[in-house]
Amino acid sequence: MTNVEELDRTFLFHPMTNLAAHAQNGPHMTVVEGHGATIIDRAGNRYLDAMAGLWCVNVGYSHPDMAEALRAQALKLPYFHAFSSMGTDLPARLSERLISMAPVPMSTVFYGNSGSDANDTQAKLVWYYNNVLGRPQKKKIIARRRGYHGVTVLSGGLTGLKNLHDGFDLPLPMIRHVRPPHRLWEREPGQTDDEFATTLATELDRFIINEGPETVAAMIAEPVMAAGGVIVPPDTYFPKVQEVLDRHDVLLIADEVVNGFGRLGVPFGSQSVGMKPDLMTLAKGITSAYVPLSAILVSEKVWKVLLEGSAKFGSFGHGYTYSAHPLAAAAAMANLDIIEREDLVATVARNGELLHEMLRDAFADHPHVAEVRGRGLMAAVEFVESRDPLRPFAAQGSFAAAVTKASLAAGVITRALPAADTVSFSPPFVTTPDETRAHGRRCAHRPRPGGRRPPPRVR
Ligand code: PLP
Repeated sequence: MTNVEELDRTFLFHPMTNLAAHAQNGPHMTVVEGHGATIIDRAGNRYLDAMAGLWCVNVGYSHPDMAEALRAQALKLPYFHAFSSMGTDLPARLSERLISMAPVPMSTVFYGNSGSDANDTQAKLVWYYNNVLGRPQKKKIIARRRGYHGVTVLSGGLTGLKNLHDGFDLPLPMIRHVRPPHRLWEREPGQTDDEFATTLATELDRFIINEGPETVAAMIAEPVMAAGGVIVPPDTYFPKVQEVLDRHDVLLIADEVVNGFGRLGVPFGSQSVGMKPDLMTLAKGITSAYVPLSAILVSEKVWKVLLEGSAKFGSFGHGYTYSAHPLAAAAAMANLDIIEREDLVATVARNGELLHEMLRDAFADHPHVAEVRGRGLMAAVEFVESRDPLRPFAAQGSFAAAVTKASLAAGVITRALPAADTVSFSPPFVTTPDETRAHGRRCAHRPRPGGRRPPPRVR
């Protein structure tokens, strides 16, 4: 058996995939190369990757500085662990750099390997924190419907998407979900943004009071929701939420896994939406996904208590073989150098304007488009059966799936998000305005969903 598609179909257990369909049909494509914002499949077809993989290849594919940094570190020290106070140099330097970049004062950095395990660690940190403080009842974590925080046993439950719970007995009982700040479906007719934010904050307040504030440990939130639909909150939403959390002594965890490191046209999502988190989760854009790495930034308020835990519990009993991995730290340092040197955060702000303008021009008046939204290089188009009255498609997801199929046929990779008929865009920061315009024009001729046009060939 030599055909790679056949090997994949037979042996590879794909994540987030319809297993039966894959076992029958095999992979949609086999990607063999990537350069800048373009990926190339085994047949030689080129595609603009308008999702940067999974919102993560921010500096673009095959950047020579990334390759060089990884090669140099692999030849010097590919690995050493960080357990029991053992140190390596690059993770220490990276920690200082992350603390100096943080949008709110932070004190220390804990490293993991993925957004999911980092959010699991967040839950353990807030439980440990409350155990050290002698508050063993204060353990519940509030998340939001449509929020995406990962797939592990704990973070899969924090995720507020039903399709990640079904069949897995999730969420665990200490997790609670509240309404997201999604204007399209959640806002009362006639409400201003500020009134909508007040309604949600008041609901949160009542929710915590009903649960018992002495049982609620933390709330986790993405500044701008990604997989849940690219949902930008009203300006006053997080300040009002924060006031409620502070009043009930509930910690705020900012999940910056997608937003962090420039995706919104500013360094971090928290500063874009007025969030002042006690803990931050970082992943994806920290290495532009060249090597798996996640990081948790811990504020002084939490760190002080964790330090007291040593007297009570001894050695901190949590950490991964790959925590503070030197190769991953080398990737993160090179990635941050590129973002600075190539001024990519400013590029995101500029090119984000172009992307939103083009999406609005192409889709805003379309009878099946309810909303074109986003910020920076994060955008979404939400499709509905009817705009007025607002009515979703009966078979949820099939229209968005058809749109992504048509855009693939036009040579552009987009993504149909799980919660509704929403198609998202999150291109690499290095996508040029010319690439955006050229591919936008190709897609905007509105092919019939499902109608297939062969993508352009390399040669
Ligand atoms: N948090 C957010 C906001 C995410 O979008 C994701 C993944 O897309 C995660 C956490 C989980 O990250 P990972 O897939 O690296 O476990």
